[in-house]
Amino acid sequence: MSLRIAAIAVMAALAGCAGTGGDRPAAVERLYVISCGENHVKDLARWAAADAGKSIQFKNHCYLIRHARGWMLWDTGNSDAFAALPNGNSVFGGLLVQYMRKPLADSLKEIGVEPADIQHLAMSHLHGDHSGNANYFTAATLYMQGPEYEAAFGPEPQKFGFAAANYAKLRGSKAVKLSGDHDVFGDGAVVIKSAPGHTIGHQVLLVRLAQTGPVVLSGDVVHYAANWNAKRVPPLNFNAEQSAVSMRMVEQLLAQNGAKLWINHDPEQSNALPKAPAYVQ
Ligand SMILES: [Zn+2]
Repeated sequence: MSLRIAAIAVMAALAGCAGTGGDRPAAVERLYVISCGENHVKDLARWAAADAGKSIQFKNHCYLIRHARGWMLWDTGNSDAFAALPNGNSVFGGLLVQYMRKPLADSLKEIGVEPADIQHLAMSHLHGDHSGNANYFTAATLYMQGPEYEAAFGPEPQKFGFAAANYAKLRGSKAVKLSGDHDVFGDGAVVIKSAPGHTIGHQVLLVRLAQTGPVVLSGDVVHYAANWNAKRVPPLNFNAEQSAVSMRMVEQLLAQNGAKLWINHDPEQSNALPKAPAYVQ
């Protein structure tokens, strides 16, 4: 072996180590942004007093992550059952109407993944537009903040605004109850960050992508860009003080990692992202 080839071999070996202890953090192989419904709001007053009277068509997404060591799903969208409702599912007395144009089950099939293939499941929180299809994923290990888990499977989930029927089948699932942050694959590629406030145990997800760079998947720490830019905590919220702290935490997380914030429900951001079966890397 010539010296030059040996040097290249050493460099290649070092590059191979980058994800397992080198100074460059590991990245996931693929991230699929899956359209998981829409939530049409007639009056934004409950999301920002300053936007009272305005309407919005929130987008809704599920995120499927391909890591070298398995599949992970983040958020499960509106219920696939809404696909049979041409006029959508009306909540809050018609203030909000939920749609599911294409069932998550169909989107996964298109990618070539079965629900049973998903080994890791985490939801930002258990409101209906994020837990709608949770019952598909009984084979997955469930990652949830302890207080969210206790509220979800305790005696009064409805008090927390949770739709218990959405995730009832996960009661017997292998669950990792978190009290803070959690590195899912142990290499820094996917990290759950505790971000309470919107719900009692809300969380966000840091995902490292090799080409796109790091992104933070927002859950509902914020619903649309105008609220993020002004750091407004919505009136419709579990704990406003915690939400403000969580927004500052996310701001620091973005700055520390040079990461972008992907706001799950923001219509303009959604329009700019490639959707499954396409993926980002
Ligand atoms: Zn939501």
